[in-house]
Amino acid sequence: MNKQIDIQLSANRKEKPSFSSLKFGKTYTDHMFIMDYSRENGWHDPRIVPYQPITLDPAATIFHYGQTVFEGLKAYISENEEVFLFRPDENIKRLNRSSVRMCIPEVEEELALEALKKLVSIDRDWIPNQEGMSLYIRPFIISTEANLDVTPSQTYKFMIIMSPVGSFYKEGMSPVKIAVESEYVRAVRGGTGNAKTAGNYAGAMIVQEIANAEGYSQVLWLDGKENKYIEEVGSMNVFFKINGEVVTPGLSGSILEGITRKSVIELLQHWGVPVSERKISIEELYDAHQNGQLEEAFGSGTAAVISPIGELSWKNEKMVINDGKTGELTMKVYKALTGIQTGKEEDPFGWRV
Ligand code: PMP
Repeated sequence: MNKQIDIQLSANRKEKPSFSSLKFGKTYTDHMFIMDYSRENGWHDPRIVPYQPITLDPAATIFHYGQTVFEGLKAYISENEEVFLFRPDENIKRLNRSSVRMCIPEVEEELALEALKKLVSIDRDWIPNQEGMSLYIRPFIISTEANLDVTPSQTYKFMIIMSPVGSFYKEGMSPVKIAVESEYVRAVRGGTGNAKTAGNYAGAMIVQEIANAEGYSQVLWLDGKENKYIEEVGSMNVFFKINGEVVTPGLSGSILEGITRKSVIELLQHWGVPVSERKISIEELYDAHQNGQLEEAFGSGTAAVISPIGELSWKNEKMVINDGKTGELTMKVYKALTGIQTGKEEDPFGWRV
């Protein structure tokens, strides 16, 4: 069975858009990666082909039972035209952890990394070289067997597509307003919250819509059992600086194990800033705010890297954090991470690939 990546280059290269007016996730590069899975042959026929639609049977498992996983990471180009990925091995490991949860066969880490690197290098002229811009990479697996019985699919497709993205902070970094969600929950202990799978996102959309309509950019999720402990924000993990110590919710199984989260923790430890991963209730946060001890808050994730939180609204209470301004430590973490990602700063951790 063929395990070598076959390459078929596009004869008709697309016209590049103006990178400065890009909308997230609307424009795709010239090529994509595909690999198939069958019970008999395992993962086989890895190939890079021109970006194109795919054909599926209407009975394919993905459409009915949502057996699917995905990842998200970025490629950056440095001032010296070097191309960098940020901890891509972590994304492939998380893809495989999500797959195990969703009964999807794991991919070979080496091969997946090679596919990522080859695809990025073939479409490297799609990486915007302006400040803050990057190439968003979306690896994903879908179940393709035509079968309405609720059983794991016998066949799958692993694909990687890429999309150039503009700067997240067009007018400079500005703190966001976030609504604490007290009715709906995102995930429960023992559920699929720590898998990057479609249903978690589909189930969150209605809540996001309500929050947006009320003027909030994201929601802060509380735990699914007691509606008490803080979990994560939209598609970001969350950090609070309380009385000099940085606190982030521990990995309970119901939150996504963010790669930016892991990097922030390692960075803070490297700087000697006290950081703890533990349960933190919304009451504790509220009390800290009332006592003047809630100094900073920020979200962490691939899209924005670091997103300062200026206001949290919980029931009828509003917590304005650091006068609604970006905190000093928040800014320092943002600068350090983006510096490493784009090749502007030294990388003492070996995160750049
Ligand atoms: N939580 C959720 C639910 C997410 O979708 C993401 C984005 N992948 C994150 C947290 C942040 O993870 P990462 O830092 O790996 O992007």
